[in-house]
Amino acid sequence: MQTIRTIAELRRLLDGAHAAGERVGLVPTMGALHEGHLSLLEAAREQCDVVVMSLFVNPAQFAAGEDLDSYPCDEAADAELARGAGVDLLFAPLVEEMYPAGFATSVIVGGVSETLEGAERGAGHFEGVATVVTKLLNIVAPDVAFFGQKDAQQAVVIKRLVADLDIPVAIAVCPTVREADGLARSSRNAYLSADERAHAVGLSRALEQAATLIASGERDSSATATAARRELAAYAIEPEYLDIVDPETLEAVAQIDRSVLVAVAAKVGRVRLIDNVVASPTRTNGR
Ligand code: AMP
Repeated sequence: MQTIRTIAELRRLLDGAHAAGERVGLVPTMGALHEGHLSLLEAAREQCDVVVMSLFVNPAQFAAGEDLDSYPCDEAADAELARGAGVDLLFAPLVEEMYPAGFATSVIVGGVSETLEGAERGAGHFEGVATVVTKLLNIVAPDVAFFGQKDAQQAVVIKRLVADLDIPVAIAVCPTVREADGLARSSRNAYLSADERAHAVGLSRALEQAATLIASGERDSSATATAARRELAAYAIEPEYLDIVDPETLEAVAQIDRSVLVAVAAKVGRVRLIDNVVASPTRTNGR
């Protein structure tokens, strides 16, 4: 595995692979790797000849007052895990490489960016995500880029972006990887105290509750959301949102007559966590 700092060097190293028609996979990450990231790398290793992982804590997607400065960061540990997972090229640029002086372009994805995380964290969040992902796709020109269902809205935004801007890449969305008790793996779990960790499982319990109700015949979205909120309350969690939406348009669903995305965001102590499940009236999946 090679670690690359510059766009020019990464492009140079990928020229041969592209010319030879090799299948290139990209896994964008912000580091602090865990089993969730490793599952994306494993999928990329299975499906691609060359695996590129980016490690870049993208300042553009953090609002003022969010956890940019304290975001966990240990490049040496991440590089070891990436190497073990079969990454060929680790792209770890400095902020100045990605956003040099004079940088002035933003990619704004309308509609699907505006609800859930977009409403809660502000429009700048997905603007930052869409801009950096567009840059990474232009730099690497992968055949496939891998994202996690854990960030369901992000995957929807990126699919919209590549369709709208005619970027020739397939977007693979990999299932959410969870701890044994159901808590979705997240780099931010490292911030949880033991007590907060015990409460944090409430998010997945609430989603499970919603999915079970839907599978057993509940069709009313607000009744389902109320039951899920009750479960959250049992873990002393007050959600920022708990919404039942269409998995593709992210528009609110009132009557559950097809698969829905149940998405939740909540602070547990000072740690902001998100999770979701795709629930269908006849079966559940996504966890
Ligand atoms: P991040 O480093 O948090 O930006 O995440 C990088 C990629 O890993 C994103 O596509 C995430 O959706 C994905 N990811 C994060 N956590 C998980 C998880 N628990 N299961 C599956 N994918 C995940």
